[in-house]
Amino acid sequence: MREKIQRFFYGRYGLDRLNQFILVLALIIEVINLFFRSFVLNGIFYVLILIYMFRILSKNIVARSIENDKYLRYKKFVIRRGKTFQSNIKDREHKVVLCPKCAQMVRLPRKRGKLEVTCPNCHAKFEKRT
Ligand SMILES: [Zn+2]
Repeated sequence: MREKIQRFFYGRYGLDRLNQFILVLALIIEVINLFFRSFVLNGIFYVLILIYMFRILSKNIVARSIENDKYLRYKKFVIRRGKTFQSNIKDREHKVVLCPKCAQMVRLPRKRGKLEVTCPNCHAKFEKRT
């Protein structure tokens, strides 16, 4: 029996950060649904659980890894965007911008007009108004 289970899970994708996020999101929706008892929220919960199960049992490991990388990249941009927003409120002398390629935070002097910025991390060039 144990061998059969091991054989079933061999070559399957399993858990990753995106799957953890999907599961937490599904559980949050289900908890909210305890109060609203909405048919739509319940539907979203089951769709998320189906995606979660599909991704765990998927044998297309490359595709699932690409999805996970995209999720991690997007998450990094969202978190850093929040940080730049905070520091732009605090610091009136400088403006912090994100590199569009690698999400590196770059601090620029304010009121200098349009600046061409070279990212210190990935050396990508982009323009920003300060
Ligand atoms: Zn960069």
